[in-house]
Amino acid sequence: MTPAKREEFFRLLARAMPDPKSELEYTTPFELLVAVVLSAQATDKGVNVATRKLYPVANTPAKIAALGVEGLEGYIKTIGLYRGKAKNVVALSKILLEKHGGEVPRTREDLEALPGVGRKTANVVLNVAFGESTMAVDTHVFRVANRTGLAPGKNPLEVELKLLKVTPPRYLLNAHHYLILHGRYTCLAKKPLCAKCPVFGPCEFKEKKKYAKEAEAPAKKAKLPKGRDV
Ligand code: SF4
Repeated sequence: MTPAKREEFFRLLARAMPDPKSELEYTTPFELLVAVVLSAQATDKGVNVATRKLYPVANTPAKIAALGVEGLEGYIKTIGLYRGKAKNVVALSKILLEKHGGEVPRTREDLEALPGVGRKTANVVLNVAFGESTMAVDTHVFRVANRTGLAPGKNPLEVELKLLKVTPPRYLLNAHHYLILHGRYTCLAKKPLCAKCPVFGPCEFKEKKKYAKEAEAPAKKAKLPKGRDV
């Protein structure tokens, strides 16, 4: 994709999403960190249901550490892989207390040293909690970047580095949200909603016209008079 097309791509996404935000509910960096750790292979909605009950009781490293693994499990049982996640969240809470004065660290190195925190989670926390222009590449961002020709890459790291290089600077801070929300609600994995896509123009997906037509077909059929069909 050419730089001019990329500029247009982000301009259109920014127009469609004037105030893009994480769909995880949180009020502090620690709440965000825990929510992101819990969200691995789970939906944001599912995580929010659990944290709405958990955070009024325990929303600091000290309170989560006091809750312990079994106590925490009781709140997050509805989330996939909850046993491993409970262990990680209690362990990372203890490390925050011991090494970081109970605060969430602001460097990638310190974040990635926490149990259950990988590159993607660190990128989300750095971007959403601390306003850094990092690029968390999840399944949605990976798909959109490759399918549209925006920033093709063989693996998440390749896509992340490419996106950081080619995204116009003024869109960098929000780019992760634009792409994740676009992938989650419009550029769907199985049947992308090309007919109502805000970036239909600059998108370089070869089959975009086919998907757009498929969406139109039932609407045309519905307009035929009763008793007739094609
Ligand atoms: S036109 Fe289709 S494939 Fe391209 S970004 Fe939009 S939804 Fe995705």
